[in-house]
Amino acid sequence: MAVGKKEISCPPSAEGTGLSDADISQKNVTYFEDHPNLAYSWTAGQAMSRFLNELKNGKLIATKCEKCRRVIFPPRIYCELCYKPIDDWVYIKDTGVVQTFSISFIDPDAKPLEKPVIVAVITIDGASPNMGIMHIIDEVEPEKVYIGMRVKAVWRPESERKGTITDIKYWKPLEG
Ligand SMILES: [Zn+2]
Repeated sequence: MAVGKKEISCPPSAEGTGLSDADISQKNVTYFEDHPNLAYSWTAGQAMSRFLNELKNGKLIATKCEKCRRVIFPPRIYCELCYKPIDDWVYIKDTGVVQTFSISFIDPDAKPLEKPVIVAVITIDGASPNMGIMHIIDEVEPEKVYIGMRVKAVWRPESERKGTITDIKYWKPLEG
């Protein structure tokens, strides 16, 4: 049986019209420009607010659950294991142990860095196991960093602290 072939063509309205760079730069197309003011603020929450304020004092604070005895850091106001509000606040040391780390040779724009950045997850002394924060390691050659290395916080001068995690400039090896 012979099958006929039928040409199918789109109506002109469905073919679309390409835009050139000039159409856009010369604003020959429907164009709307707006610069909304998106400045906003929000609360860091009860636990994180106190944590950040304590950083200004050069101190690390955690919360403690009396039921499971965990010292939680960074602090939270509830224990996700016991499903209960936290009972207490405790200061912990500004020393810790490198749990894992990565050496970055490029910046966020993928440009090579003159000096590699060592990013580590650090478990803080006094907090329960596996309660770590991510931060920078410095004052050590990248090839000398190892998992289990003991480190100490290097704080900014008190007058420069702003209540952010960068109030700690970096962590350095505790030995030497
Ligand atoms: Zn608990």
